[in-house]
This record gives sequence, C-alpha cells and structure tokens, in this order.
Amino acid sequence: MPNAKPQQPFFHGSNNVLHVEQIALPNIAERFGTPCYVYSRAVITENWRAFSEQLPAPHKVCYAVKANSNLAVLQVLADLGAGFDVVSGGEIARVIRAGGKAADIVFSGVAKSDAEIRYALELGIGQFNVESDAELERISAIATAMQHTARISFRVNPDVDAKTHPYIATGLEDNKFGIPMQEALATYQRAATLPGIEIVGADCHIGSQLTEIEPFLAALERMLALVDSLTEVGIHLHHIDMGGGLGVTYTDEEPPQVASYIQAMLKRMADYPHLSLYLEPGRAIVANAGVLLTKVEYLKFNGHKHFIMVDAGMNDLLRPSLYQAHHDIVNVVASNAPEVHGDVVGPVCETGDFLGQNRTMRVAAGDLLAVKSAGAYGFTMSSNYNTRPRPPEIMVAGDQAFLIRARETLEDVWRGESLIPASEG
Ligand SMILES: *Cc1c(COP(=O)(O)O)cnc(C)c1O
Repeated sequence: MPNAKPQQPFFHGSNNVLHVEQIALPNIAERFGTPCYVYSRAVITENWRAFSEQLPAPHKVCYAVKANSNLAVLQVLADLGAGFDVVSGGEIARVIRAGGKAADIVFSGVAKSDAEIRYALELGIGQFNVESDAELERISAIATAMQHTARISFRVNPDVDAKTHPYIATGLEDNKFGIPMQEALATYQRAATLPGIEIVGADCHIGSQLTEIEPFLAALERMLALVDSLTEVGIHLHHIDMGGGLGVTYTDEEPPQVASYIQAMLKRMADYPHLSLYLEPGRAIVANAGVLLTKVEYLKFNGHKHFIMVDAGMNDLLRPSLYQAHHDIVNVVASNAPEVHGDVVGPVCETGDFLGQNRTMRVAAGDLLAVKSAGAYGFTMSSNYNTRPRPPEIMVAGDQAFLIRARETLEDVWRGESLIPASEG
C-alpha cells in the first residue's frame, strides 16, 4: 500500500504522474473517460480503522451514509464491521443492499415519513434518532400497531457554535435540527410512558467540517448534564451519540487527529463507566479518499480574467458553488505549459459554476486535472442540471480499478419522463 496516508492518499509517482494506490490516473481517464470520481479502498479502510480502533464495542462508529453512498463504498465499510447513520429510507435500503446489517443502522433525519418508519421497524434497525415530540408520537403509534418496539435516542440541540460554514452548522438554537436542551428532560419523561418505545440513548450533531475539539467537548458537557438529570428521574441511557463533524484537510486546515478527538471525549466520560460513546463520521472517512478527475477543454481570456474551462461542473461537484468550499486542484501530469492565473470553471450555464477561484497553474487544453478531497459530498450531491449525465465512480484497490457506477447515458437521464399526445389542431 504505497504512501496511503489519510491526508495524503494520492501521490505523484514515477515521472511525476499522479497515482492512486498502484494506478496512474491517466490510465483511469483513458479507460473510463472524464469527468469521473476515483476512490481509494486503502484510504477508506485506513480512515475507518482510525475511528474503529479507538472505539471498540460497546462503543460504536456509524458511518454517515450521505457523505458517499455508493454501494461499493458501503460494502467496504460493512465488511470492516461498520455501523451506519442514515437519513432516509433510501439510505437504509442501500446499506442492506451493500451487505450491512439492519441492527447496525441508526436512523437520523428531521422529517421521517410513515413509510420510512414502518420500513425501518420491519427490518429491525438499531435505533431511531428522534427529532421532535410529534415524531415520537408517530413512531410510538406505528410501532404499537406493528407490535414492535422502537429503540430511540432523542437528538437534542446543545446550542453550541461549531464555528463552521452557516449551511453546515446544525447545533445552534436557530437550526431546524433536534429538540431544545431545555425541553429534553420533559420529552424523555413523556417518552418513558409511551407504548412501543424503548429509550436507549441521546444524540447530537453540531455541524460539519469542525477543525477544533472544543465545540465537541462543549456539546459533550451539555449531553452529560442531560445524562445526569435523566439518571435522577430514573431514566438510564446506554450510550450518547456525539454525531459526526470532524473536519478534514482540504488545503491548510489542521483538524485534530482522530485519536486525540476521541480520547478527549472518552477521558471526559471516564466517570460514566456504563455509558458508551457512538460517533457518526462521514467526511472524515471518505473526503480524502477520493478525487474528481477532469480534463481541460479550453483556456479563455476575456480581456480581464483568465478561465480554465474543464469538463466537470457544479452538477458533478457542488461544494465550491454551494459553500464556497475550497478544493485543491492539481495537475495529473506535471506540465511545462505557461502559467495561468484564473478560475477553474465548468460547462454549466451559471456564474456560480466554478470548482476553484484565483488559482495559479500550468495548464493547456487537453490536460488532466484532479480536484482533490472530493470523496465526501461529491457524487452524492451531484445532479443532472443542464442535462449532464452524472459521472462514473471508480474504486481503486491496489493495482485494480473497478467501475462501481457507470457513467449515465442520456436514456438514464430522462428515464421516467414521457411525451404527451400530440395536439389535434
Ligand atoms: C451529516 C451528518 C453526519 C456526518 O457529518 P460529517 O461532517 O460528514 O462527519 C453525522 N450525523 C448526522 C445526523 C448528519 O446529519
């Protein structure tokens, strides 16, 4: 496994050609075309182990499926014994299809439908993370009618500032997620009286791409205070779930090491020997395990600004447009072309369609570029905007490359659409 460190998984090998594991990226471009997503199984595995080794049973790590839900990615993680955090019935079905066990699923999400709740109960998922009183009532009613018992945690909102982009901060008073901490005790007490409900834990998720430990510890403090007041009224929790959110290095961020983040929390929990810790990492497992491989179509100068126009757009990778997220973009093969300073933009008809702004690179038309750290919230947020078929996904394992999702055809793109009868006149 050459050089597959979590933050530096892709490396320039012989002749200064970018490789993933033992495969040179130009070979992938030739075989599968561009744009395409390329993931490293070794990096996913290594990132997973960094978590799982710190949290042996009865603690539990549940991979947040929405970060990258390709069946083969879920399969790799299921084979490693992962639990899964899901936010829809569709994600539950993916986990099962990929070989995951229902008992290892925790079901989060702010607006679970009747059908999703019923489906989850039929399969016997591990637990629901319940986000409101109304949802609790609904789960209780459905579980009772089905003569099942639903294991539940409440997602509480600890009201801590995750110090991240406002769109990915979820633990502030103003956010739609969870129940307010002030109401948590009363809500648990009501839940304890409802049929079809078994209380197992408490859950929070304060945001994503956090680069410091302090907000997690502040949230943990509030969760433990809740555990104390629940214990006083005779409600004993099996675990607390501190969600996901650990940041990764996109460019120069320095997030805490997985081990220090987990050990800091376990240390604070030492006084609670009967309480297990659950985590729901998504980005930290897959972000740096993937790149988006793209080709330069044209260089353009409008008399004022340079544009590097590539064949991947915001429909393929939305993060730069949606969150002003930075992804490093590098040459796949070292280039002697003249230096260009400008924006790396896609073919989509939107000014917001960029993958990178104000970059300086040596590029010429036809060159391959790799948009790095694209393994999380890349393909899963892609769309067919501008009738662009979504790109293929490739999993590299050692010296082999597997097509794990084919490039969409136009037939795929308009599947389910139909024409109406021709008008008479
Ligand atoms: C999105 C999400 C996660 C994963 O967040 P990352 O920042 O990718 O680790 C975990 N739990 C819940 C409830 C989520 O919504």
